[in-house]
Amino acid sequence: MIRINELQLPLDHPADALRTAIVARLKISDAQLLAFSVFKRSYDARKKNSEITFVYIIDATLADEAPVLKRFAEDRNVRPAPDTAYYPVARAPEGLTERPLIIGFGPCGLFAALTLAQMGFKPIVLERGRDVRSRTKDTWALWRNKVLSPESNVQFGEGGAGLFSDGKLYSQIKDPKFYGRKVMHEFVRAGAPEEIMYVSKPHIGTFRLTGVVSHMREEIKALGGEVRFDSRVTDFIINDGRIEGVQLSSGEELRSRYVVLALGHSARDTFRTLHQRGVYVEAKPFAVGFRIEHPQSLIDQARLGKYAGHPELGAADYKLVHHAKNGRAVYSFCMCPGGMVVAATSEPGRVVTNGMSQYSRNERNANAGIVVGIHPEQDFPGSPLAGVELQEKLEARAYELGGSDYCAPGQLVGDFIRGKASSTLGEVQPSYQPGVLLGDLAQALPAYAIDAIREALPAFGKQIRGFDRHDAVLTGIETRTSSPVRIKRDNLSLQSLNTRGLYPAGEGAGYAGGILSAGVDGIKVAEALATAMLADLKSV
Ligand code: FAD
Repeated sequence: MIRINELQLPLDHPADALRTAIVARLKISDAQLLAFSVFKRSYDARKKNSEITFVYIIDATLADEAPVLKRFAEDRNVRPAPDTAYYPVARAPEGLTERPLIIGFGPCGLFAALTLAQMGFKPIVLERGRDVRSRTKDTWALWRNKVLSPESNVQFGEGGAGLFSDGKLYSQIKDPKFYGRKVMHEFVRAGAPEEIMYVSKPHIGTFRLTGVVSHMREEIKALGGEVRFDSRVTDFIINDGRIEGVQLSSGEELRSRYVVLALGHSARDTFRTLHQRGVYVEAKPFAVGFRIEHPQSLIDQARLGKYAGHPELGAADYKLVHHAKNGRAVYSFCMCPGGMVVAATSEPGRVVTNGMSQYSRNERNANAGIVVGIHPEQDFPGSPLAGVELQEKLEARAYELGGSDYCAPGQLVGDFIRGKASSTLGEVQPSYQPGVLLGDLAQALPAYAIDAIREALPAFGKQIRGFDRHDAVLTGIETRTSSPVRIKRDNLSLQSLNTRGLYPAGEGAGYAGGILSAGVDGIKVAEALATAMLADLKSV
């Protein structure tokens, strides 16, 4: 198979134009092209007011490839296509009785469990929250009726933190083994749209993701795995530096010498237990800030010019960075085109925001976190859990500023820049449910973060016209941008630095940020665990 990079075609090209373009690019006859598939499709919007084009990466199968590759030997855009298929690294022996435990059923735990199940290891998944269907009801109870279920919400339950999300499926991780392709492939097998395999910034949206996750759970079970909901792990049994099992909130003990920790970034109680039990945990940087909302049409216009609203392009996104004078980096985070801001707390008496959308991304507003990077040495020194404590403190203050009933504090961008409390909304209506209480957000974050965001917003307005418009809305606060801790692991065995058999993984352990990278990390850890388990069996 031959890979062709950078094949450009007009946005509105007919379907058969692709074949014609491949044949022309490779200077072959039509009969020589046996088959082709789109590996990736992006668009080039640099000339948004004259012509936006599609840019393709194509994999083509030819009748005779060697002479073509020889002819294009000097052309870096025509190369043999790499093998991106997934090959399992191990197979569990018949009659294996010990079963790996996986704590957490977010994307990391899901892919760890699926990969282990596919290799015959029959994992047991322990998830503190409820199944997709029940969890959806619990989550909406907070958004509609201000009733929080601490064990079943936006953060906890089947599908993990990414279930009620934009379902963006891209990441900047290095992925030489193409694990990301396996993640996409499994999502498609479970019902995600085929296009996620090839569009450059794929997303599924909340509604479709819920169906995909329950399909994948059924596959894990069909392969002999087990998925237990309402099963919070409350303690770890560790002897002589080796994990030997876990205890559940029900009091039940489960024994295994192979445990994946796929906890997510909100498992603050479990981080504390791990630290108390002596598992190596250290503080890591994360970011704090606000969600900003604009009309989606403003972003479309700025990004796509005369192509704004083109059906092939969908709602436009953005990515912004500003280096503030006080040394802080301010950047956009988890941008959700055509989506809504959501209440994302898992704890009573706290307010934290995030963003989600449906596949169609057709809500009125665009939203994104506008966040400031913070660091343990400078901003929360001392204990490995100081970042957790800072998050808790800020989220509790946001709860108070929002009126102590899960409404979020908000402010208009113009007022925020001028340091004046807001009292009336303009044209932009905030989407956060159960509601936004306007006031002064300067009290919601440390002064250095406020100063940096105040400076960044007008700078962003120079990149996206109208970004700093007076009535754009800020809703507070963003704190759960990534984990405040790293549960450090050995680079080769992927086991905890000081607890053998324990595999810290995914976002909560500090090894992923986002659905795709968490899924990829789950696969990596499953492979490492399976390989270690087989090696241990051989050495007995
Ligand atoms: P999680 O998904 O957090 O899963 C951890 C699981 O562990 C949870 O289900 C939790 O209940 C369980 N758990 C925790 N402690 C215990 C315990 N003691 N016992 C048993 N179970 C436990 N990322 C993207 O890439 N694209 C997006 O569009 C996107 N949008 C988002 C929108 C929202 C509203 C949120 C909250 C997040 C979003 N993210 C998005 C981030 C993404 O969801 C996370 O990066 C990803 O889910 C991390 O996966 P994970 O498996 O490591 O952890």
